[in-house]
Amino acid sequence: MSTGLLETRRLVARYGSVEVLHGIDLSISPGEIVVLLGPNGAGKTTLLRAISRVVATRGAITLAGVSIGGWSGARTARAGIGHVPEGRGTFPDLTVEENLRLGGLARPKGRRSTTREDLAQVYATFPVLADMRRRAAGLLSGGQQQMLAIGRALMARPQLLLIDEPSLGLAPMVTQQLFEVLAGIRGEWSTSLLLAEQNARLSLRIADRAVVLAGGRVTAAGPTADFRDGDVIRRAYLGEA
Ligand code: ATP
Repeated sequence: MSTGLLETRRLVARYGSVEVLHGIDLSISPGEIVVLLGPNGAGKTTLLRAISRVVATRGAITLAGVSIGGWSGARTARAGIGHVPEGRGTFPDLTVEENLRLGGLARPKGRRSTTREDLAQVYATFPVLADMRRRAAGLLSGGQQQMLAIGRALMARPQLLLIDEPSLGLAPMVTQQLFEVLAGIRGEWSTSLLLAEQNARLSLRIADRAVVLAGGRVTAAGPTADFRDGDVIRRAYLGEA
């Protein structure tokens, strides 16, 4: 295997007896933004779950050269893989700051920054969260909740942040603002990003590379410049690429 931050080779995942991912080869370099595109049911969510070890797999999966195939989700999180699931998963009755502090619990041992510094950095990335730090998370708008979910994952200082459908249910303007922030996160937080996203247009604008899944297989992959022609994406979605 090469020396990417994350590598999967012939990764297979199943729910019960139904195989959903049929041998995925994926590689993510440090600091890279990769977008996973593909229609409903293509396996994008499952691939993110497989990487964060919520779903068991066969095949090889390594983080910084270390095999993580036998690891639990908790161990994977402590090793630097953050996961923002579809639907966000924040605690509605806790305040914004309490939610963020919970995210800090997954930080690796030997971290250099303090919780206070990490909170300040999240508030610098998402100033609206600072204004709402004492408000119950359930009272935030959809866009603010997505920011909170991402901020909470950042509190663990991940090397790789997996974000599932960040644009889901958000107005176009809010989605655009969110993607602008996402583009800056890799530099500010020294992290790689893997986004699963149906909004191809916006995500291709901020990503370095795109990987298209259809029917649990990679149907196309390459630098985002190769995907700017809508036809390429359409063919890849249909599994004809
Ligand atoms: P979406 O955008 O709809 O979330 P996706 O590309 O993320 O699509 P997945 O959610 O990974 O796709 O689903 C891949 C396949 O696995 C689909 O056929 C789906 O029906 C199936 N699947 C997903 N979750 C489960 C589950 N918990 N049990 C059984 N089958 C599942």
